[in-house]
Amino acid sequence: MSETTEQPIPRVVTSRCLESEPVRYDGTGVAVPGLRWLLRYVERVTVCPEIAVGLGVPRPPIRLLREDGELVVRDTVSGRRVDEALRDYATSFAAGAATVDGFILKAGSPSCGLGSAKIWRALDGDDWDGRGDGVFAEQLQRMRPDRLFVDECALTTVDGCLVVLARLRALARIRQVERGRADAASLRPLAALTDIDPASLDANDLRERVMMAQGPVRAGEGLLADIDGAASDELAQMIEEVADA
Ligand code: SF4
Repeated sequence: MSETTEQPIPRVVTSRCLESEPVRYDGTGVAVPGLRWLLRYVERVTVCPEIAVGLGVPRPPIRLLREDGELVVRDTVSGRRVDEALRDYATSFAAGAATVDGFILKAGSPSCGLGSAKIWRALDGDDWDGRGDGVFAEQLQRMRPDRLFVDECALTTVDGCLVVLARLRALARIRQVERGRADAASLRPLAALTDIDPASLDANDLRERVMMAQGPVRAGEGLLADIDGAASDELAQMIEEVADA
């Protein structure tokens, strides 16, 4: 089978604490059955920005705070600012991620959260005021606006997992076509996601359409032609087992 008819293998970056290593501040990791299933179909690289900037495991929690209108991150014990180091690391990491199709990041984190990190009023206490992006995630999105960014909450249902896989495969296919590794005809299955003939859009507009697509996408068709009933039933069972635990 030629490369144009095989499903592409997306390249994905995930937060390292998701289905990988126990690197959270308290030495724990996070089980995400939907991600475990998705990893069968993608090539993954993991990243933990807090470890990369020299914070160990375990470590004191850090907090996202608004100071004089600016979002900063501080160590809750020493008060030391770490947001500049996290943003610098995001800049260098994004520069090396030209062939990455998407990022699956940990919800709620002051580093990795996507609109879900609490913005605290002080280094201690329970008072917080709204939510925002973690500083690593914010800088990554600024550097790579044409990539898919989701958190693990997108992978808590069968439909959610299927649409994330379809969107990642669509982005991987666009990348292949741009690099001359697949022909334009291989973009046809993207129509199920974009609601438009892919041939009528250039690569950037097509990526934008894929980024906005929310599904649902049917297993067994187009971008998910290889996902049969048994594969989606197994996914449903994996998700259910954790929900029941
Ligand atoms: S959320 Fe991000 S910074 Fe925090 S442990 Fe996970 S990968 Fe590391």
